[in-house]
Amino acid sequence: QNALLSATGTTIFTVMSALALEHGAINLGQGFPDYDGPSDVIHAAAAALLDGRNQYPPLTGVPELRRAVAHHNRRFYGLEVDPDAEVVVTSGATEAITACLMAVLNPGDECVLIEPLYDTYLPVVRLLGAVPRLVRLEPPKWELPRAALAAAFGPRTKAILLNTPMNPTGKVFTAAELAFLAELIRRHDCYAICDEVYEHLTFDGWRHIPLMTLPGMRARSMRIGSAGKTFSLTGWKVGYVTCDRSLAGNVAKAHQNLTFTTPPNLQRGVAVGLMKDDAYFAAIGPQLQARRDRLAAGLARLGFGVLETRGSYFISADFRPLGFDGDDVAFCRTITEEAKVTAIPVTAFYASDDPPRHYARFAFCKGEAVLDEALARLERWI
Ligand code: PMP
Ligand code: GLN
Repeated sequence: QNALLSATGTTIFTVMSALALEHGAINLGQGFPDYDGPSDVIHAAAAALLDGRNQYPPLTGVPELRRAVAHHNRRFYGLEVDPDAEVVVTSGATEAITACLMAVLNPGDECVLIEPLYDTYLPVVRLLGAVPRLVRLEPPKWELPRAALAAAFGPRTKAILLNTPMNPTGKVFTAAELAFLAELIRRHDCYAICDEVYEHLTFDGWRHIPLMTLPGMRARSMRIGSAGKTFSLTGWKVGYVTCDRSLAGNVAKAHQNLTFTTPPNLQRGVAVGLMKDDAYFAAIGPQLQARRDRLAAGLARLGFGVLETRGSYFISADFRPLGFDGDDVAFCRTITEEAKVTAIPVTAFYASDDPPRHYARFAFCKGEAVLDEALARLERWI
């Protein structure tokens, strides 16, 4: 059997969701909304299903969705994209990440990854025989360590995988940080795989800037979006890659060998979603921000050291002020079993030695009553 896969544990999201179920806990661990996405999007997919759009669609995605992805790129970021040659639809951002890494990495190439990192990145880089170069962000500010980042790039660097807005930190990379990164990418003549699934989920006036919009980055970036996040439909697993035509061929060939195509009826729904009016996209950040504010204020009131979060579904909170004697894994297990509230230990997002061990990640993409009940349970437990 494959040794790297045998050595990979079951994802923390599955582990904690199973534990939540076992203990009847409110699941603020795995990031999925407990509310449904827009009904016109769901109805469009349902109608397509009943209309007989149920056979293999084109390999790179149904034309309608590719056109909608191109339109979305122009509308929000001023990017001109050829829907026939520069968009590849995938089965979720998860597949897109793998397909983009496969598109550019050869065995022995180096790939820069930023910790804390989403759990699929490292195993996939390793499975491809590439060499990860980890650069660490540290709480509470998650600032970009510029010297360490520059030192991680070298003659063997082929790519960097960038996640902004970032899970689990809620960091939104600034224009200055992106400019610094772009300069490194240009100087080392490499590619950027940009996981931008939380592109519309930003708060307090923070705006997502795709690295692809920076000078010299158009042909070097592969920009990944996800219907799961943009339309609160995480089970649908429809992702989309936007990249230069010179890269799209390899991304499509990776997709061809991973899943080949993505359900056409769901693609139809997502196409309707990406064409929704500006008001929809303008509202989703503020709606989520209200949930963030509710959970952040509640956790702070209970004594947690709540970190600032500028985007994504997640808040990280320092539980040391509660007097808990143990690490984040013990904390998340204990609150699941005793308080009946589940969170994710932030160490799950680190692979290097000696990670910060006193933060729990809480998802706030939940109804107000659920957030309030979770806070009430934590208060009784404390
Ligand atoms: N990237 C990040 C940073 C995520 O948090 C997630 C989880 N939703 C994904 C990728 C996966 O997205 P999808 O469900 O579309 O595969
Ligand atoms: N992206 C989600 C999170 O960070 C989980 C996705 C998954 O379960 N693989 O919670």
